Amino acid sequence: MPLRIPVRVRILTAILVVTAIGLVGAGGVAYALQKARVMTAIDEELRQELAQVESSAGTSGVRSPAPAVTPTAGATPVPESAESSEPIAFADADDAIYELMRLVPSPIGGGTIGLVGGEPRYLPGEAADVDLHDAAFLAEVELASSGRILIASAELNGRELRYLAVPLIVSAGDEGMFISAISPDQRLADLRAVIAVYAWVAAGVLVLVALVGWFVAGRLLSPVRELRRTAARITAGALDERIPVAGNDDLSDLTETINAMIARLEDAFLGQRRILNDVRHELATPVTIVRGHLELIDAADPADVEQTRALVLDELDRMSGLIAQIARLADAERATEHHPVPEDIGALTREVFAKARVIPGPDWRLGTVPSGEATVDQAQLTQAWLQLADNAAKYAGEGTRVVIGSTLSGGVLSCSVADEGPGIPEEARERIFERFARVADGRGTTGSGLGLAIVRALVQAHGGRIDLDSEVGVGSRFTMRIPQGQVLRTDENDAAAQNEQKEER
Ligand code: ADP
Repeated sequence: MPLRIPVRVRILTAILVVTAIGLVGAGGVAYALQKARVMTAIDEELRQELAQVESSAGTSGVRSPAPAVTPTAGATPVPESAESSEPIAFADADDAIYELMRLVPSPIGGGTIGLVGGEPRYLPGEAADVDLHDAAFLAEVELASSGRILIASAELNGRELRYLAVPLIVSAGDEGMFISAISPDQRLADLRAVIAVYAWVAAGVLVLVALVGWFVAGRLLSPVRELRRTAARITAGALDERIPVAGNDDLSDLTETINAMIARLEDAFLGQRRILNDVRHELATPVTIVRGHLELIDAADPADVEQTRALVLDELDRMSGLIAQIARLADAERATEHHPVPEDIGALTREVFAKARVIPGPDWRLGTVPSGEATVDQAQLTQAWLQLADNAAKYAGEGTRVVIGSTLSGGVLSCSVADEGPGIPEEARERIFERFARVADGRGTTGSGLGLAIVRALVQAHGGRIDLDSEVGVGSRFTMRIPQGQVLRTDENDAAAQNEQKEER
């Protein structure tokens, strides 16, 4: 199992890492820039020393060679002020070095030393800050300078030194060298102190960011925790729970979406439970009737047996009809078989009329027939339309007129069946579209009460609705209104349909 790191910790870690990188980066850049300035200042100081050496040499008759061509890494070219590489006559290197040591002061945080013939001969009069009398250091400087003026870096006892080396050549052939060096360490000490303070402040800032970040991340994530807790509480038995929506941001959007999802689940779950209850109720009656008759049957009386047999078969027929209807309703409500394609509505209307007119009873008439196409599932629309025709034949009297027709206008396809039957009372006009709902029990004809529920489900699968105009004693007109263009089944359409059903309940 992968390591479980809470989101809060992850957010905080990301914030801290970014902040730390920022703080360290800012400190590092500031330190580097300041250090570069200090080093430039040191080099500048060494150049001034060189100028002093030159002017002193001028007065004392010493000439120094031309600037070196950077022999070591980090060496800076020395300005052209060192005029010529030609050695000049001078009595004695010792004299020259002595003179220089006297005239050129030892730099602050550094020191000077005079060499004659490669050997240390003179140290500054008063003790310098850094003692340059170190064999390894002097050897390194001599090697790097190799007879030229040089400003470069070398190590003395493990500490970096920036030095100026000025070789002197005297006529006797003696070689002398004047070295002045400055330790950047001392100059950088102040800067290091500032950086230390900065490091403490930065650490404090990190701690503050951690505290504030922890608190803010916790607050921001609290709806998620609440979401999880509520989701855990919701079970099939407690689908009416909803997560409280707080604020107006993407988390509240998420909460609303999840609430809507729970609502849909609740609807689907309740719908299933209702169907189950309805079915149990509807099947209980025929089963009781069958059982009652079978119990009372007089096996010795052939007439009674025959009568009961007919009755039982009739009830069983009714039950299988009911089961077939329930299956049809389930199919229509799931609408998995919904495949709309553009259909010629004129032809479809005539086809439905041709199929309906064989139903015995009414005087079938063909009403308006439009020309044009609409995107429908032909099989489903025909099924719904014929169901309405079947109802008209069932409920309107023998020989009364039933008109089947359709119109296409304003992007809406309207398919209607109008009869001159008994009509439907006002209070029943909504209810009859529900499962197992009938206007009045035992009104002549038998039926499951599922027909109109199936019609409504099929029309809703098309994104349409069913309208009823009726007047008691005059007749009824059922009209299915369907958008002419294709309607894609979306969650919103489903939700809208569910809301409609909910309101109707
Ligand atoms: P069923 O016809 O199986 O009872 P339906 O859902 O098709 O179930 O119809 C529900 C009820 O609506 C019917 O019982 C009937 O009372 C009423 N009804 C349906 N169509 C008509 C109609 N054309 N004229 C009068 N009443 C109707």
